[in-house]
Amino acid sequence: MELNSSDTIPSRLEAVKATLREGVHLVAVSKFHPAEVIIEAYEAGQRTFGESRVQELVAKHDILSAIYLDLQWHFIGPLQTNKVKYIAPFVDTIESVDSLKLLREINKQAIKNQRTISVLLEVHVAREDSKSGFDTDELREVLELIHNNPQDFEGVRLSGLMAMASNTDDESLIRREFATMQELFHRIKTSGLLHEPDDFEELSIGMSGDYKIAMEYSATLVRIGSAIFGDRVG
Ligand SMILES: *Cc1c(COP(=O)(O)O)cnc(C)c1O
Repeated sequence: MELNSSDTIPSRLEAVKATLREGVHLVAVSKFHPAEVIIEAYEAGQRTFGESRVQELVAKHDILSAIYLDLQWHFIGPLQTNKVKYIAPFVDTIESVDSLKLLREINKQAIKNQRTISVLLEVHVAREDSKSGFDTDELREVLELIHNNPQDFEGVRLSGLMAMASNTDDESLIRREFATMQELFHRIKTSGLLHEPDDFEELSIGMSGDYKIAMEYSATLVRIGSAIFGDRVG
């Protein structure tokens, strides 16, 4: 991503927003950037921010929450079960749910806080082993389990799916992965397995480098960091 030094966060944010299709919601990924840049984006109208580390999210929430009351957080990174309790009091959506154990803990902590937390199930669609998420068999098992035991998941709202495509210049591979996600999303939505199919509405695919492609495959959420905030420091 080429960034002109005269570019500002508001102008980059506007430029990204101008490219979004109707109905696509932007998660501004502010990880590794200080709270000040979140304020800049907030002042320019952005309300939903994505973070990938618990400590960093909690620190930013502590700074910002008293003033920016309608700012919403999406957690998008690997999440250890024992850290859910730190973000459960305030996080809006956890996009990176990659195990049943994690889902159960989010449910437990949500109930403890008398809240409902939206969750996206992360799907492992990329070729890279380093990426996390359920494969399709595991996904079906989890959905069946939730279907058969809804009373065990009353603290979470099953809002959709998340995935990261392969980090590659091979656009055809990225397209295949997004197409897989689009189809999987549709199959689940119409499967009869969901108690609240209307809640299942988000397909979170697409980052700075591939979100325009993702929108061709029915993305409803795009998670964009560097195109708005510049390259990460660290
Ligand atoms: C960092 C991150 C993003 C944003 O990446 P950019 O390339 O900076 O837009 C999106 N999704 C996840 C899960 C991330 O960790």
